[in-house]
Amino acid sequence: MRKPVIAGNWKMYKTPKESLAFLDAFLPLVEGHGRDEILLFPTMSSLAYVIEASLGTNVCAGAQNMHWLNEGPYTGQTSPTMLVSIGARHVLLGHSEQRLYFSETYERVNLKLKAAINHGITPIVCFGEMLAEREDLQTADVLRTQVRTALRNISASEARRLVVAYEPIWAIGTGSTAHPDVAEQAHGIIRQELAHCCGLETAEKTRILYGGSVKPENISSLMAQPDIDGALVGGASLVPTTFANIVKYE
Ligand code: PEP
Repeated sequence: MRKPVIAGNWKMYKTPKESLAFLDAFLPLVEGHGRDEILLFPTMSSLAYVIEASLGTNVCAGAQNMHWLNEGPYTGQTSPTMLVSIGARHVLLGHSEQRLYFSETYERVNLKLKAAINHGITPIVCFGEMLAEREDLQTADVLRTQVRTALRNISASEARRLVVAYEPIWAIGTGSTAHPDVAEQAHGIIRQELAHCCGLETAEKTRILYGGSVKPENISSLMAQPDIDGALVGGASLVPTTFANIVKYE
């Protein structure tokens, strides 16, 4: 009932030329693949090129971040109307690299989430605990607070478009993938909190992706978990054959 999403986050990698070379190799590998939604998140400088080159295919591209206002004196930012104007219909919000290195907060994620929904953009909102929080048995509390803050005053109908990613910070770019049981437990906590914020029906319909060192070798065991509805893939999404193997997991 929840169509899986396999998303590639290219972080700060690939020029427009490299992005188009990726598509040349990747699109034929996933042509006709309809089981999962396939998303790519290139850098802002490549986004319009990737969107144009993916038109008419089964791959969609979105932005790695955005501001919540339509315009203003905010150097370095991109607005929701600007994203819509180039055909972007997806945005990553609250990625841990934004939280850790650029002081992103869930209060701001909440504003961005509302703006995305108002502009018809699908937000993929990231949640996840740090290693010290997990070791301190704080994971459930941390996740609940993050979800509650990000979804403040979001109604069930607004949350209809929402996609969530559970990305434990200790698993991102480290090669230490969460054990499927550990990820499943965290997804359960997030789904419970979604139900609390936006109702049971919305919670049951919302796709919750796992992210953190996903590779072709571990995608199947993660996807076998009932509450894991897809993957947000960083490093392994940069190579066309590797990412295609993740998309086409068995
Ligand atoms: C990410 O960037 O969201 C991510 C999960 O990275 P990696 O797959 O490299 O851990």
